[in-house]
Amino acid sequence: MNQTGSGLLSVVPGITASTALCAIFGSPVGHSLSPVVHNAGFAAAGLDYAYLAFDVPDIAAGLAAARTLRVRGLSITIPHKETVLSLLDEVDPLAVSMGAVNTVVNDGGRLVGYNTDIDGVSGALEAWQVASDGRHLVILGAGGAARAALFGALRRGKPEVVWIVARNPERAEALASTARSVVSVPVHVLPDLAGSGLAQRDALIINATPVGMHPKISGTPVPADLLGARHVVFDLVYNPLMTRLLREAAAAGARVIGGDEMFMRQAFRQFVLWTGQAAPRHAMAEAFRQAITARSGPG
Ligand code: NAP
Repeated sequence: MNQTGSGLLSVVPGITASTALCAIFGSPVGHSLSPVVHNAGFAAAGLDYAYLAFDVPDIAAGLAAARTLRVRGLSITIPHKETVLSLLDEVDPLAVSMGAVNTVVNDGGRLVGYNTDIDGVSGALEAWQVASDGRHLVILGAGGAARAALFGALRRGKPEVVWIVARNPERAEALASTARSVVSVPVHVLPDLAGSGLAQRDALIINATPVGMHPKISGTPVPADLLGARHVVFDLVYNPLMTRLLREAAAAGARVIGGDEMFMRQAFRQFVLWTGQAAPRHAMAEAFRQAITARSGPG
């Protein structure tokens, strides 16, 4: 069989000797939808780019390889979003304040870090015309996504109060301390929502825990009787698209926003950073929807 010329191109369409490589580094990465979304974007934009996923337990070694191979752009995911900061040549100031990088651009050999998860959160809230002003900002969880939720929501105005609701007191206090350093409003830390009076508040509630995520889709981080029409509920979980939390919040009269709204917008921003071109949003969103539906069934 002819493995050269057009024969090979028919096996790997579009890959050439000059193809720019982007990739996700994390461990594990097998579940990531970023390759599907970004390759659909590159193809729709007619760019000679390709995106792969690499299981990288040692991020320092991974970055050294990326430098050697002149990888154009990286997504950084669990468990490296914090540790990668000290290994880069430059980090965007917002990513420094947040303490996490999820995107790297190889700018002629200089590795520059950004956090597009913040853009994902603030962009989704903007698209849904949700402001934080005057609301109780209730963040469930205290990990990396919770940090992005905090910074993204603060871009959309000054809340009346910030609540960090998390089961791990040290992580919760660390996030609360970050919140106090960037916004001058009361910041409360709660282990759970019992006795919180949430039902009586005008609140923007952001779930940044994995509760409700596939395969444990019967879970919810907020008891249904605490939800009501005074709430906007943003669930960062996107698998499934319609979580139990969103279903119960919508049934109680709340406005609801799904995690795909964040995921897509952080990916659009990555695309711009790596290519300098506007992201082909429709093609990327369609690829995401098809992949997530194949994985978890219709929302
Ligand atoms: P992480 O750093 O591991 O943080 C997860 C947080 O949730 C921690 O505070 C953790 O508490 C808490 N948590 C975990 N299981 C819990 C449970 N059963 N009950 C109560 N709290 C629990 O993870 P992450 O990176 O922040 O991601 C969190 C979730 O956000 C992901 O699972 C994903 O669904 C979503 N996410 C979405 C996007 C998007 O683009 N839409 C992007 C990133 C993440 P402990 O510290 O005690 O474990």
